[in-house]
Amino acid sequence: MQNRITKLFNIQYPIIQAGMIWCSGWQLASAVSNAGGLGIIGAASMYPETLKEHIKKCKLATKLPFAVNLPLLYPDIDQHINTIIEEGVNIVFTSAGNPNTYTSLLKKNGITVVHVVSNEKFALKAESCGVDAIVGEGFEAGGHNGREETTTMCLIPQLVNAVKIPVMAAGGIGCGRTMLAALALGAEGVQIGSRFVLSNESSAHQNFKEAILNATDGATELSLKQLTPVRLLKNKFYDLVKHAENTCANKEDLEALLGRGRAKKGMFEGDMLEGELEIGQISGYLKSIIPAKQIVEQIVKDYNLALADLNGQRL
Ligand code: NDP
Ligand code: NDP
Repeated sequence: MQNRITKLFNIQYPIIQAGMIWCSGWQLASAVSNAGGLGIIGAASMYPETLKEHIKKCKLATKLPFAVNLPLLYPDIDQHINTIIEEGVNIVFTSAGNPNTYTSLLKKNGITVVHVVSNEKFALKAESCGVDAIVGEGFEAGGHNGREETTTMCLIPQLVNAVKIPVMAAGGIGCGRTMLAALALGAEGVQIGSRFVLSNESSAHQNFKEAILNATDGATELSLKQLTPVRLLKNKFYDLVKHAENTCANKEDLEALLGRGRAKKGMFEGDMLEGELEIGQISGYLKSIIPAKQIVEQIVKDYNLALADLNGQRL
């Protein structure tokens, strides 16, 4: 398949691996790129020296295009941007912030810029700032998420109608059938997170991977809406958040409860009680930990089967 997204990134399949804190380093990014998708290094959990190291290793591990995800609220963002420019990364996915601030600088350095949005207002704003494409992230997605709780099913057609640049869909996509559904909604690519957390190459702790394998539907919830909304896998930390929210905790109380480094503790160090576990709703469907290459192959195969199933079903 060739479309605006495969051409923009020069990739075989419009399958983009999400940039996820603590889960997507150079090993996962290069494996996805080598499999024909677009791998992304998640820079938000990396100190500047760490990002530099990951980019260098990724360049050695793949000759194919890969990207860096840069949440714009990262504290040392200028250092990350310098690294990205110096190392010659030519695709950046920005998220969690105002695309007006850095898009022109990145574009001036020849970098393709994609921005992640969760509503039409931010989609239009991103387009007016000159980004090359957007990712529409629906309510089902893991990690940080929009306040409006718009599902992927509702968000994607709305964004596709609103903007002229290509739209990729994120949130709830983990197999070929959901990819086909996203393309039927008008997306030209999919960004997939949770399915790739359950790959051999993801840097998520084994305990976290096993907790995701055991997840059923209803195992995650969008929490901490007074701070930055985040979809969490339910555990002891989630229970504490829920109790605090139910007993009218204010923003400061929630910040104190969250503390610092909870996500690292859970997703990277494997503390399944006290850690913050960010994962999407699709985790209830995921039942295996396999190499990233096999994930891409399976998605492509199932997409084609699902497409064939639909042939002849014209109303
Ligand atoms: P603020 O609400 O403090 O907004 C800061 C500034 O950045 C504002 O000028 C705002 O625009 C702009 N802005 C923020 N996010 C975006 C975006 N995605 N696209 C375009 N402009 C943006 O920022 P917060 O970080 O507290 O959260 C803003 C929204 O983004 C919330 O809905 C939040 O849930 C979501 N978010 C999404 C993340 C993701 O990775 N998908 C991560 C973190 C937050 P304006 O003045 O027009 O409102
Ligand atoms: P915290 O403030 O709780 O902790 C910061 C974490 O980031 C620490 O574990 C720290 O590692 C690490 N870190 C890496 N670089 C720096 C730096 N320059 N300064 C300080 N800490 C750094 O934040 P979270 O762990 O909840 O989130 C980390 C970042 O990721 C935030 O910017 C957050 O908004 C973003 N984020 C983005 C998401 C996305 O969807 N793209 C999803 C969730 C979060 P150490 O413990 O080794 O000091």
